[in-house]
This record gives sequence, structure tokens and C-alpha cells, in this order.
Amino acid sequence: MTLQIITIGGYSEIGRNCTLVRVDDEAIILDMGLHMDNYIAYTEEREELHTEKDMSADTLIKAGAVPNIYQVQDLWLKVKAICISHAHLDHVGAVPFISNKFKADIHCTKYTAEVLKTILKDEKITLRNNIVPHHVNSRFKVSKNITVEFINITHSIPQTVIIAVHTPYGTLIYANDFKLDNAPTLGEKPNFKRLKQLGEQGVKALIVDSLYADTPMKTPSENIAKEMLKDVLLGVNSKGKAVIITTFSSHIARLKSIVELGKKLKRRIVFIGRSLNKYVSAAKRAGIADLSRQAEFVKYGNKLKKFFKRVKHPEKYLFIVTGHQGEPGAVLPRMVYQRLYNFQEEDHVIFSCSIIPVKNNIINREKLDSALKKKKVRLFTDVHVSGHAFREDLRDLLHLLKPEQIIPTHANKEKLNAMKELALETGYKPEQIRILKNGVQLNL
Ligand SMILES: [Zn+2]
Repeated sequence: MTLQIITIGGYSEIGRNCTLVRVDDEAIILDMGLHMDNYIAYTEEREELHTEKDMSADTLIKAGAVPNIYQVQDLWLKVKAICISHAHLDHVGAVPFISNKFKADIHCTKYTAEVLKTILKDEKITLRNNIVPHHVNSRFKVSKNITVEFINITHSIPQTVIIAVHTPYGTLIYANDFKLDNAPTLGEKPNFKRLKQLGEQGVKALIVDSLYADTPMKTPSENIAKEMLKDVLLGVNSKGKAVIITTFSSHIARLKSIVELGKKLKRRIVFIGRSLNKYVSAAKRAGIADLSRQAEFVKYGNKLKKFFKRVKHPEKYLFIVTGHQGEPGAVLPRMVYQRLYNFQEEDHVIFSCSIIPVKNNIINREKLDSALKKKKVRLFTDVHVSGHAFREDLRDLLHLLKPEQIIPTHANKEKLNAMKELALETGYKPEQIRILKNGVQLNL
């Protein structure tokens, strides 16, 4: 008998999440994500050199932008399914570039499927794999010996699932990106009942997002973020001033709160930026939320200048824009650096996000914040709660699932060790906690 996991990407690093689960003579893959820093570095370098982008699997693997699937080349033909946990690019973004190597369908929730289709269209890529959408809280048979279950969980993007892989040798659980939110503002609460049930039936191993294992808190609910937004948008007088807000384009729950509050402010709401349009449209097609009825869209960068010229009374608007990490090509940085918009003193600029702590973002945001300060606008930063489990959420998940083995992932060494320490604290023995690197084969 064989029940084995092979770590392909995302272990002892952040990005390019990818795990292979082997059950005897068959296998499935969990997530196929991009390594965002490496991906951006690769594509930007190409742009600077004005060379055509070579987006072949081999080149992207070499650039460290996608998981190195050559580590499991001997198993390519055995892969029966590719299952995606949610639509963040570090989990789904490599599908267009490497899934063609496998003769397997891609299984995900409807929203993830819609986002994936949009990426494929943008990249002009056709997959030979079928994309099969599933409901949250549903299960499907991959083969006689493998059943996959999608369990509803909360995160910062719609229709995120914890994946349970049921095999004759036990159940493996993949909780890579989640938080335990008791009051989500969109979608349902985590399926605690099912998680508890699985814990009672016995869980062989748990692969778990450990990004904030060292933060001694319970992750605040998305409802708290909504209250924070309310405080800033409705509780601060913005009469006569423009209000400009930026957040994650894929965070539909957050965008929905912003639109609701914008309506209360009786402002005209405009989404500005291509990626906002992309994710909001995907949410509409997936039947999750139709924000387009309550707002206008400015999709393309080359129309920005014209649009802002047309706006005679910015104080009557709520502009929702891209660029929360200060990315130079996004809307807010362009409004500032290219003077597309004429900022007035004490205009409100709200960052409904935290700075993702990688070098590029820190530098970009420092530059943007200081440029905004020079314009004498009012800056509201960190109007945000995280989508990742903090230490006390992680503890609760361990209590629910009681896995025999714990495999911390989605973090650097320090955070993985914090997860280990937490597991030891709850009574685990050191040999039950496996901190792995990429390219490791673990028999369960
Ligand atoms: Zn995520």
C-alpha cells in the first residue's frame, strides 16, 4: 500500500503552492500556483529587455515562477485530477502554464473556475484539461480509491475550500489558506460540523497554512473589516472631498462592503482598473455578487486620463482603484505619478489592505505613501483584517481535526517552527510534525 505526499512547491517558502498525493498507482495534484515575486521579476525583466515573453513551462520553472513538476515526472501519467483550493494566483495561477502536461481534469469551485477562464483568455491559452466546477460542501469520485471532498471555509476570496482526500488508507486534509470566520460578510461560515466529523473519523495528515502561526490572536472576522470601513467612510466627514479607496481586486466580500457604504454616502461609485473588472465579472458569472449594477467601470488604462478629465465634481464620487501595494502600473500610483488626477488637499485616500511583506511591495508603498503625503491628502492605511488563520484559529483547527501528522506550509522557516511549537503545546510529539522542503516524498 502507498499513501504518499510529494511536496512540489510552497514548502518552506511563500508561493507556487503544489502538492502531489499518491495513492498506490494513482495520484492527484492539489493546487498549482505562481510564485508571485519570481513571476513578476521574470515578466518585468522581459519587458525591460523588450524581448518576447517565453511563457513555456520549462522557462517558467527555470525562473522559479511555477512549481517544478519535473520532480514528479515519473508520475505524470498517473495523475487523475488537479484540485484547486481557491482562486488566489499563488494557488491557481500556474494552471495555464503547466497543467497541459497532465491528462487530468481541473476541479475547483465555480468562482475559481471563472477566474481561471479569465486568465486563460487574457493569456490566449487553450487547455486540453476540462475545468469542472463543483459546489462547496460537495464530493466527487476521482477513481475507485480516491474521493475528493470540498469543504466550505472562509478566506479573503469567495468559495475557498479545505480539500479532503479520502483513500482506503485514510483521509488527508489540505487546509492551505483559510481563516475561521464566524461572521463572514459574503458566503457561509466554515463547515465546522463536517470538520469535526472528519476529526472523529480519523485524519491521517493535515497540510496547513502557517503564515501567521506566530501571531497570538484569533483572526478578526471580515465583519470587523466592514466596521472599520464604516468608521472611516461614514464616521469621518468627507464632504467636498474626493474619496479614493484601494483593496485586493479578488476580495469580493470587501468590495461588496465598500459598495454598500458608498451607496450610504450617496456617492457615484466607479471601479477603475482592469483586474477589478476581471474579478468582479467573475463573481457575477459565478452568481456570488453582482456589484456591476451599482457601479460604473473604467477598465482600461488608456481611458483613465479621459475619464478623470470628464469628472467635474470628484467630491461626488467614490473611486475604487487598483494599486494597494503601490505597483507602478496600477491605477492609484499612476494617478499620482502621471498626474492623471488632480489631488486636492484633504482628499481621502483609503488603503483597505496591509502591505504584503516582500521587498518590492515595501519599497513601492513607501514611495507611494510619501508622494501622497506631499499632496496633503488624508491617508487611512491598514483598514483591513487578514484572510489567514492566526495562532488561535490554527489551534482550533487542530482540536477539530486531530490529525495524526501535521505538515505546516505556506510560510518561511520561522513561521513553520511557530506552527510546530503550537502543535507541541497542544500535546503532539515532535515526530508527528513534519517541516518539509520542496521535492520531498513523505510516506503516511
Ligand atoms: Zn489565498
